[in-house]
Amino acid sequence: DIDTDRLRRLMSFAIGEPIDSAYVPLMREELSVTGDDLRAPRWRADDLAPGRPFRVAVVGAGMSGILAAHRLAQAGVEFVIFEKNDDVGGTWLENTYPGCRVDVSNHVYSYSFAQRNDWPDYFSPQPELLDYFRACADEFGLREHIRFGHEVTAMTWSDDDHHWVVEVSGPDGSARQEFDAVISAVGQLNRPAMPAIRGMDDFVGPAFHSARWDHDVDLADAHVVVIGAGASAVQFVPHVAEQATHLTVLQRTPNWFVPVPTYHEPVADGLQWLFRHVPGYAQWYRFWLFWRSSEGLLPACAVDDDWDDLSRSTGVRNAELRGLLEQWLALCYADRPDLLEKVLPTYPPASKRIVLDNGSWPNTLKRPDGPLDGEALDRNESDAVVTRDADGRETRHRADVIIYATGFQASQFLTPMKVVGTGGRDLHEVWDGDARAYLGVVHPGFPNFFLSYGPNTNIVVNGSIIYFSECEVNYALGVIEMLLRNEWTSVDCRQEVHDAYNERIDAGNLKMAWGVSTVNSWYKADSGRVAQNWPFSLLEYWQQTRTPDPADFVVERM
Ligand code: NAP
Repeated sequence: DIDTDRLRRLMSFAIGEPIDSAYVPLMREELSVTGDDLRAPRWRADDLAPGRPFRVAVVGAGMSGILAAHRLAQAGVEFVIFEKNDDVGGTWLENTYPGCRVDVSNHVYSYSFAQRNDWPDYFSPQPELLDYFRACADEFGLREHIRFGHEVTAMTWSDDDHHWVVEVSGPDGSARQEFDAVISAVGQLNRPAMPAIRGMDDFVGPAFHSARWDHDVDLADAHVVVIGAGASAVQFVPHVAEQATHLTVLQRTPNWFVPVPTYHEPVADGLQWLFRHVPGYAQWYRFWLFWRSSEGLLPACAVDDDWDDLSRSTGVRNAELRGLLEQWLALCYADRPDLLEKVLPTYPPASKRIVLDNGSWPNTLKRPDGPLDGEALDRNESDAVVTRDADGRETRHRADVIIYATGFQASQFLTPMKVVGTGGRDLHEVWDGDARAYLGVVHPGFPNFFLSYGPNTNIVVNGSIIYFSECEVNYALGVIEMLLRNEWTSVDCRQEVHDAYNERIDAGNLKMAWGVSTVNSWYKADSGRVAQNWPFSLLEYWQQTRTPDPADFVVERM
């Protein structure tokens, strides 16, 4: 083992700057220099509560579900995973559109305890990631615990018996099973959002959402209209452009882009050699990437108190970032000032997710058939999509195929499942379209119920969502440990703890670009409140989720 001071000095050397000692224990876990899984539970259910039957339902076998199940297995807790699909992988199973790849460096977008030193690309394409999660599920021995093709439809807490009744719909019909606790790992970006378009069903050709790609539809020689220009569209449109006779991209709001020349590149041979031959090199590389992205651009997203005009930037650093990103767009569209006007965002950077780009998106938009239309969507016709400009002038875009790249119902957490807690309270009625939770994981009135990737656990410009899931699952396992150790039957988050936490989160988000900007984004619930994002540092989330405080809960004993 390496002592803390030595490790801190090594870390400082690796990143070329001093490292705050508060980060060292977090980074020790992420780095895992000895190859040990430092976040593994250090307890076993049999030791804490010998003979006590205790079963957990995990909903979903994507990135978070695999993680939660693995931790439960390590702690010797009995569990079942319900997965609506026929395989593991979640988002990486469902999104099969051409060009789909991760937008976080892959050496960081992987579990801290299942690091790989042989990623072929800096940013892996979807099949590579799906293979990774499949391999993890196999290696951790999870498949035998997964009920594939089984969708959880409802979960109801029994006030009398202190367990959850989980209703599942599968190939043989519906069934109910009882569990002592539930971990929901259903993700946020899962249920496609379809726009409400006049005459939507009048269109007679094939039409599909990017997350439900129809590979049977031949795009060659077709007039293709893509509705939406977010992260998904940016990835698949250049591929569609290679096949289609004519392409139209309907963009309601332009994105900010950050240039990443290696976005589609294989890892350089020299680096691969180092990963293969120098022991620990890949771990230190991951550490270096993690550090660079850990708080990343966060300070450049902050709102300066004395900043007058928040419509274009939110402070000095945000304005500097804006200047840099504007320069990139100006460079990309130097030969097309007409296009630059259409693609230059007016809103402050980081109000929406900044999209990675290696130049393929501008190159596609510069095609001679002029694919970009920034006017408002008006209606579908049998063979066209019609847009209308501010003066009422219509443009008819011939369409043989329509692809909806219109995102997900991200703020509709846990839908369409019905979740009923103490006193028969329905979670969606409690939320009323504005989901909240304590630490994004627990909610008052819903004992022994844990969320992964719940409200306010998304990050905009820093870190990787896998890191967040590891923190969330660590917290959930910590609460389960308390339950077993203390012979409690239920733990229910205190309302005042939840409320005070959410006040702080809301205030924090209002100090960030995504909180003050009025631009459309999937970060906000219908109420306009930011229901998705964590506004503080990665360090702080780790500190808060490391060890649950029993005082935060109302508990019931056996
Ligand atoms: P998105 O970012 O929400 O983009 C949806 C697009 O559809 C936007 O351009 C939106 O316009 C447009 N749109 C929605 N409703 C519309 C309507 N009624 N009329 C016209 N346009 C409409 O969805 P996404 O591209 O699927 O990405 C969602 C998130 O998934 C990303 O932010 C990212 O976190 C994740 N993602 C990641 C990757 C990756 O890792 N590389 C890839 C894909 C997705 P407005 O902007 O005006 O709302």
